[in-house]
Amino acid sequence: MSFTAINPATEEFVAEFDAHSDEDVERALAHAASAFEAWRATSVPDRAHLMIRAAELLESEIPVVAELLTSEMGKTFTSAKGEVAKCAMTMRYYAEHAEAMLKDENVSTSGSRSGIRYDPIGAVLAVMPWNYPLWQFIRVAAPTVMAGNVMVLKHASNVPGCAKFIEDLFTRSGFPKGVVTTLFVSHDQVPRIIADPRIAAVTLTGSDRAGRSVAEVAGQHLKKSVLELGGSDPFIVASSADMDATVPMAVTARLQNNGQSCIASKRFIVVRERADEFIERFVAAMAAVPTGDPMDPATVLGPVVSRSQLDELTAQVADSVARGAVALTGGAPLERRGYYFPATVLTNVPTGTRAGCEELFGPVAVVEVVEDLDAAIAFANDTPWGLGGAIHATDQKEIDAAIAGLDVGMVFANSLVASMPELPFGGTKDSGFGRELGEFGVREFTNVKTFFVA
Ligand code: NAP
Repeated sequence: MSFTAINPATEEFVAEFDAHSDEDVERALAHAASAFEAWRATSVPDRAHLMIRAAELLESEIPVVAELLTSEMGKTFTSAKGEVAKCAMTMRYYAEHAEAMLKDENVSTSGSRSGIRYDPIGAVLAVMPWNYPLWQFIRVAAPTVMAGNVMVLKHASNVPGCAKFIEDLFTRSGFPKGVVTTLFVSHDQVPRIIADPRIAAVTLTGSDRAGRSVAEVAGQHLKKSVLELGGSDPFIVASSADMDATVPMAVTARLQNNGQSCIASKRFIVVRERADEFIERFVAAMAAVPTGDPMDPATVLGPVVSRSQLDELTAQVADSVARGAVALTGGAPLERRGYYFPATVLTNVPTGTRAGCEELFGPVAVVEVVEDLDAAIAFANDTPWGLGGAIHATDQKEIDAAIAGLDVGMVFANSLVASMPELPFGGTKDSGFGRELGEFGVREFTNVKTFFVA
């Protein structure tokens, strides 16, 4: 078996890597286990020194790395450069802040000394998706490695060059062998790796299908798991929305990463009194989005990742249109080379149709008109997912109602839902459990050890 990358914009071959054999996997896990014993004994400042070296290296190579991302999964070169820079910034953030986040805490009790310390737990398996091939791993690795753990990466099979680059980056920066290891294995091999006693925990970012499978195996072996899964984030347009700011935000919220972001807004829920205005302006803005070659700086929307993803999106839209939905713009793949689906806006989407109840992982927006903010929040919550949610309003009472009322892991007002190093990231319901980033993220793969001295 081999791992192959195909350029989604050109459908051309990019690179191919051989799969690791069982012996390779065995060797890698042995290295990870021995690397952990040495790594856990290092000081946080020593770890920080290497993390900054890795950030510097990444910053010095931004265009080259960004081109690798674009060639393997089709995101625009502009957004790929942003992704690489964000990874370096996050590495620097944890190099600077991890020590304070991990320091022992004294808690006053009847003892002479008592409290909590945060000890590393071992090798953490990271099963990662292709959509932010560098960021998804770095956002878990920077805090987790700073906490004294080591990481074994099983990346998505369609971004093998990115997977290889990640291991090389850590090696070139001076991290000891085994602190970050990439395995070229298929997802069928994941259960055996989770079961291995040298793996302490697993984190998966991806679909709920993959999440259920990984959590089940982790559960069987009583290992900690963190799941960052899909979503169908609501974007609420409230009565007090500033439409000049809201419309461009809605376009970016839906089309970022060619529509393939877990926290992209996918359902646009508009109160009736603002509906005509929003829909007219949103449809016009979506229809005008520059679409094409992701390497062209003028492009906003590039291709989706693969032929199968293009077919899936096409089928989801066709199913809903056949059953009553209306495509106000877009609606079918572009007739050109590459996996291009245009920016699409659907209205009147019946709830039971595919676009009405499935995650749309591509540039397709569903617009729902509701009576008022209470109805908007109720509609937003009427889904199995609970990743992020956005409200666009100028009235603080409307903003506060959404922050309190949305059953999601993250609410953003008048902003894109985003991951940032300072704040925890994660979802509720079928969007997963556990948190990445922030203090919660650094401590997620630690033994929260209580100490008490009488
Ligand atoms: P995916 O098919 O679930 O793949 C994600 C990773 O899981 C890949 O490495 C994949 O390996 C592996 N995998 C798939 N099935 C598995 C199984 N049964 N057991 C173990 N590993 C398995 O998801 P995707 O299509 O790459 O990504 C899209 C999904 O990820 C969307 O639902 C999106 O919303 C979600 N996502 C969530 C977040 C978040 O932070 N919450 C972020 C990004 C994406 P192979 O490539 O070898 O199949």
